Amino acid sequence: MKKIIAEFAIRRAKITRVAVVGGILVGITVLAQYEGTIKSSATALILLTLSFILAAFVGFKLWRCPSCNGYLGKLYLGLDQPKFCPNCGVKLVE
Ligand SMILES: [Zn+2]
Repeated sequence: MKKIIAEFAIRRAKITRVAVVGGILVGITVLAQYEGTIKSSATALILLTLSFILAAFVGFKLWRCPSCNGYLGKLYLGLDQPKFCPNCGVKLVE
């Protein structure tokens, strides 16, 4: 059980990092576009779309139960931490 809780904490930290980096990238893109560093808005749109797809992909791949590999759904979007896997019921948080 300890192993699952530890693995879950690692996955959660990874997703948080990706979200922070993605947020910064999107922020820079929007700012660069606003200041005219990126000339075409199509480039900015492509960059934003790519960041969004990457974030969705990473979230979908990593946001899984370490025990049964079931998708944990939208639990992370709220401030509530999922304490148990909705699929197999394993304890995820100490
Ligand atoms: Zn599970």
